[in-house]
Formats: sequence, C-alpha cells, structure tokens
Amino acid sequence: MKKVYSVKDIDDLHRSGALGSIPADAVITPSARDRLNELGVQRARRTGAAPASASSAGGGSVDERGIDQSVRANSPKADLERLFNSPAVHELKEQICDVGRRLWQRAYVDGNGGNLSIRLTEDVVLCTPTLVSKGFMKPEDLCLVDLDGNQLAGVKNRTSEILMHLSIMKAQPKARAVSHAHPPYATGFAVAGVQPPTCMIPEIEVFIGRVPIAPYETPGTPEMGLKVAELVDKHNTVLMENHGVVSWSNTIEDAYFKMEIVEAYCRTVLVTTQLGVQPKQFSPKHLKDLLDIKQKLGVPDPRIGLKECELCDNDEWRPGVTCAVPAKGGESTSATDPEAETVVKAVTDEILNRLKG
Ligand SMILES: [Zn+2]
Repeated sequence: MKKVYSVKDIDDLHRSGALGSIPADAVITPSARDRLNELGVQRARRTGAAPASASSAGGGSVDERGIDQSVRANSPKADLERLFNSPAVHELKEQICDVGRRLWQRAYVDGNGGNLSIRLTEDVVLCTPTLVSKGFMKPEDLCLVDLDGNQLAGVKNRTSEILMHLSIMKAQPKARAVSHAHPPYATGFAVAGVQPPTCMIPEIEVFIGRVPIAPYETPGTPEMGLKVAELVDKHNTVLMENHGVVSWSNTIEDAYFKMEIVEAYCRTVLVTTQLGVQPKQFSPKHLKDLLDIKQKLGVPDPRIGLKECELCDNDEWRPGVTCAVPAKGGESTSATDPEAETVVKAVTDEILNRLKG
C-alpha cells in the first residue's frame, strides 16, 4: 500500500533534508501539500498529471527526459520559451520529425494529413504544425500549446486536430505521446465500420488488443476528441470512423509502432479474406496464453479475466468478399432460382401498381 504523507511527515523529512525521498506517486494529504507549497517544493500533481517521474520532490523537478516539470501554461512567457528551446525539448522535436518522416514514407499520411504530440508537463504539450507535410518537418516548425489548444510558442500554427490529442491526454494520464494518421488498410476498416477480428496474429493481441471504432465526428471539433477519449481508458489504439487511426503511448516512437502494428494487421487480414477460404483463428486457450504474457508485462487488457469461451468472440466480424468456387457441375442457385424470380416479380408488380395508384 502507498504511504500517506501528513504535515508531520513533511516536517520530519524537511528537518532531515530528505524531502526528495517522497515517491512521485505518493499520497499526500491536502494540508501536507500546502506545507510543501510553503516550503517551495514543486511536485507534479497525481491526478491527470503527465506520468513523469520527477527526479526530486525538492528543488528542481526535472523528469527522466530532462523536462522541467515546474513549467506551466501560465508560467511567464520567458520560461515557456526557455522550455520550448531547451536541449531536452529539441531532442523530442527531432523524435517527432523522425516519426513524421516514417509515417510519410510508409504512406500512412497524405498531403498535410496526420499529426503528432508529446505532453511535456502537466498542461504544456508539444505538437506538429498545420499545413506542413509530416515527411518534411523541421524541429523549428513545431508548436507549444496548453491543454485547451491555445498556442504558447512556435512560429507555425498548431495542427487543427490538436483537440483530439488533448482530450486523449486528459482522459488517459498515461498517454504522454499521441500519433494520428490515415494508413489506408486500417482506415479502410474504419470506413467500412468493420472492427478488425481477433485471434489471428499474436503480435497485435499483445501490443494493442481489440481495436474499437469511434463514431464519426467532424475532424478538429471537440466532439471528435470526446468520442475518441471515451475509449482510451481501455484501448491504446482506436479506429476513427470514416477518418483514420489514433494511438497513444509513453513515447512517440511507441505510439508510432502501434500504428505500424494495426496497419500491418489490417493489411494481412484483408489479404487473408481474399484467399477464398475461411480464415483460421487460434483458440481462446492460445489467446489466454497471450493475455497471461501481457499481464506479466504489466500491459492492461479489458479481456484479462474474461471466461475462455468469450475470448475469441468475433460476432461482428464479416470476412467480406471471398472467391466463390462453383460446385462441380452445379449451377449458381441464387441469381436464377425460379422461385425467387417469381417472388421478386410479384413484389415489383405490387410496388408499380401502388405507384400508379
Ligand atoms: Zn486526420
């Protein structure tokens, strides 16, 4: 159980010079928090805070990426500019440009589409600009915004889809990086409204799990962000109906990996359905083995704890077009069935009569 820190604990630690020993996720009473504030100790807030592991509760609060966690959206402009131009943030800007190049090279984005973001501190987020190809971004193109999408720094205007990224970050504190693109195979599933089936390839089960579809909303609107955000407590990758894919993780590269995994999976499933046979699934028992591995890795999955018989439930999965192999000597029964013809003719005549009447 986590230790609860009271005012007395804080005073004791202060006297012994050990305030830095308070774990980043410690439970702190409101009055103890006030005492920390009086002592000038900066701490990232637990609820909704970026899951940065502050290296010290006393003095500076720099996370493992080298980001000063004391900077807030309402900090003086000079502090925000210092953060935006710091070597640690430059490194993250380079990572975003690198992932952008990979998205473009793999044709996961088109035109100026797609966008990427990284949460820097509790309410300060680094993101890609609008109207720039993700394949050719430079670090100086990136933007700084607050959690409402207001621009704090950067010469280019922030992406129009930032509200979705911010909704995800607000709903899921573990989402420190968000990647959005329009990879054609996964987007095809999103346009068809077909949720990718499960129990076919182990990798997606371990790293992603079931991929839900968020209902369509106009891109860039708060409504779209909210529809996606409703799903991110249980899913790290979401198909956006008639739009694309969004994934989140602790780092931008890992969020990008999820994009690759879901796209490769949808592509493979599509190929499978064209081979003229019913696709094979591995058994619920085998999925259970994968879920056990996931549990050991500490990756949550809403299916952990389900009954084995419920694990490979693909009720909504429609394999779609398959190559029909005509039976030997047999004729197709559907199109030329005389009984069906008679029914169709009777219905058509009835409709025509009513129209005339
Ligand atoms: Zn988009």
